[in-house]
Order: sequence, then C-alpha cells, then structure tokens
Amino acid sequence: MHSNSAAPPAPGAFVMNRSRRSWIGTSWKMNKTRAEAAAYVAELCDWMRDSELDVSAVIFPPFTALPIASAQLASCRAPGDAPERTRGSLQLGAQNMHWQPRGAQTGEISAEMLLDCDVSVVEIGHYERRENCGETDRSVSMKAASAVAAGLEPVICIGDSPDDRRYGVAAETVSRQAKIALHGLEPEALGSVVLAYEPGWAIGAGGTQAEAADVEAMHRVIRDAVRASHGQEAAEQIRVVCGGSVDAANAPGYARETSIDGLFVGRAALTAAGFIEVIEQYCAALPAADSELVGAEGDTDDRH
Ligand code: PEP
Repeated sequence: MHSNSAAPPAPGAFVMNRSRRSWIGTSWKMNKTRAEAAAYVAELCDWMRDSELDVSAVIFPPFTALPIASAQLASCRAPGDAPERTRGSLQLGAQNMHWQPRGAQTGEISAEMLLDCDVSVVEIGHYERRENCGETDRSVSMKAASAVAAGLEPVICIGDSPDDRRYGVAAETVSRQAKIALHGLEPEALGSVVLAYEPGWAIGAGGTQAEAADVEAMHRVIRDAVRASHGQEAAEQIRVVCGGSVDAANAPGYARETSIDGLFVGRAALTAAGFIEVIEQYCAALPAADSELVGAEGDTDDRH
C-alpha cells in the first residue's frame, strides 16, 4: 500500500501530457503456427527498419511461437541492419504468466521461462481470462507484482462488463481493478507499466466499438484512481491504452484524445499488414506535441 504524499492537483485541473511514448500492441491470442509467426515478424521488422515512427510496438504471440518470434526478431537486429535508423522499438510479449517462480502448477508459465524466451512484456488479466479462466483481481495483482520483480513490463488489462455498463458502475469497476492490480507496486515502477482499458462489450467479433470521447473519459477515471493510490507523478507516467474492436479506421479518433497513450489490437492486427496500417493511421493522427495545453476540466474544445 502506498500513501499518496504528492499534493493533489487543483480541483478540475488536468495536464495534457504527450511525453508518454505511444504504445501499440497486438495479441495474437490462440492463433498462428511457428511458421506463420516467423513470417509475421519478418514483415513487421522490414517495415520498422524503414519507418520513422516513434512508437513502442509489441507483439504477443502464443507461448509456442515465442522462441521462433524471438529468433526472427534477433535476425532483424543483426549487425548491418542499422537498427539505429529506426525510431520505433519492437518488443516481444507473452499473453499470461503465473505469479509463482516455479513448481507444481500444471500448464502454467513462469516469468523466468518468459525471460528465457527473450520476452520483455507480459499481458495480465485479459477480459477473456477473467471471464473464462478464473482470473481475479487478486491473481492479476500477484502476477503484476511478480512480473515487475522479475524485470518484465506488465500490460494489465482492465475493463467493464456489459452489466457494469448497464447498471452504471463501469467507472467503479475499472477503478477497483486498477487499484488492486497496482497495489503491490512502488510509484516509481509505474513508468514501466501499461494499463489496457478494454471494455468487455467492445472486445471481439460482435463487440461494439467504444466512442473515443467515452474512452478518454474512462482513461481519466483510471488516471484519477492511480493518482489516488500512487500519487500525481505516477499517474502522469503510467501509460493507459485502449482496446476492443480497434482498427485502422477508428485508430485516428483515439489518437486525438490526450489521455489515450496507444492501442491494444486484436483481430485487425492478425496480419502484419493490418498491424502496420493501424500503427500508421494512429501515428498520423497524433496531434503535434507543441499543441499541448494545460487547462481545466471542461475546457476541451481547442485541445486537438
Ligand atoms: C482484445 O481482445 O484484447 C482485442 C483488442 O480484441 P479485438 O481487437 O479483436 O476486439
């Protein structure tokens, strides 16, 4: 538990902060053989090598494809490939981990095993795992703490369900999820943590795309929760990205919102070309850094 010693911001004050680097990830979920994974990574590397975009891109293959994805990434970074020409970075993520370091946990994967596959990012608490695999706020919290302790960057998924939305408790749900997930972490650690706001009603085939303005409002609720638990600085450093039926067409709308730091993409990025298109559309719509403002809540008309 952390006490919030930082002075709270003035009532209604907010800071437009574009200092956080854009983060765009894609989970392949239960898709792709090793050969398909290698081809995807090769295509993505080719594009990144020539791209000027300043973005953190992260792919989350299934466990079985992590070694080959890692090998493909390493070959992209071979001497002579001039990685310094690339402003962006491409990281390897895993879709889950156990909080214990080893032992009798059939079917589970530890942080050490992920590090052994050159994984640097781990997804925790996806809505599907909360709904279908018994993931709880407490297990998410334990996984986040173990990930950080092991040197992995956690991407912690939070999101309201259709019922939360229907009964008007979505903000309470995501605030609770965020506070519990981050409970064991020091404020200084939050610069390496990503919160992915993915409402259950927006995810997957049949999901309803969330309006950018509604996502922005929820991201501010999330940042308020982090401010309450970990202080102002941590709330400004943590990256909050959004997911659920994100594609190249709706990515620009999210890019224009100041509390949205990036995207977590599913179906639209199942091909490398699809992922690249989402990244390009998002980055093209980002407002110039010098147009940022410090203002008061409600004073939003000239933000973009
Ligand atoms: C997801 O489930 O995290 C996700 C973003 O999926 P989709 O984009 O396919 O809705």
